[in-house]
Amino acid sequence: MSPNLTVFYDSSINYDEVEEVVKELKITYELGIQSIKKRELEIITFNKARNQYDGQKLLNKLIDGENITYFLWIVNEDLYVPGRNFVFGLATQFYGAIVSFFRLESANMKIKESIHECGHILGLGHCKEVCVMQYSKNLEEAILKPTYLCWKCKAMLKEKEKKIDKNKD
Ligand SMILES: [Zn+2]
Ligand SMILES: [Zn+2]
Repeated sequence: MSPNLTVFYDSSINYDEVEEVVKELKITYELGIQSIKKRELEIITFNKARNQYDGQKLLNKLIDGENITYFLWIVNEDLYVPGRNFVFGLATQFYGAIVSFFRLESANMKIKESIHECGHILGLGHCKEVCVMQYSKNLEEAILKPTYLCWKCKAMLKEKEKKIDKNKD
């Protein structure tokens, strides 16, 4: 059984973009979609001095506040985590992820980073192959990596799926 993903997006995200991302996620991963809902960022996670949202606080609030696993939250605000100037997204494996479109201009980049974060949700780590799961510390590196998974990551996903199925028996 493949998991069902819940997709959240904030009001400033264009719904057409959400649909496009969802379409590509379904192609890359064997995913069902549970639902697609609006969700706004909590102002309490905004850091005035940095003019950015604390991505980790946002993610934790969602994990603690909603009794769901496998969610992707698409936001249009700039995110940071302690120790980093900014992040394109962040994830907690087997729970969920946030992806920020703030620094991503093209549809291709938005799709690519969403596929990357979704890989983390499904349990993938960073990859050194030519692969969408490559770690990118800046926009140049993010542009260079491909939109697809390498064979190693694909094989790893298959293994993880088998384990999840076994645990259900
Ligand atoms: Zn990553
Ligand atoms: Zn890979």
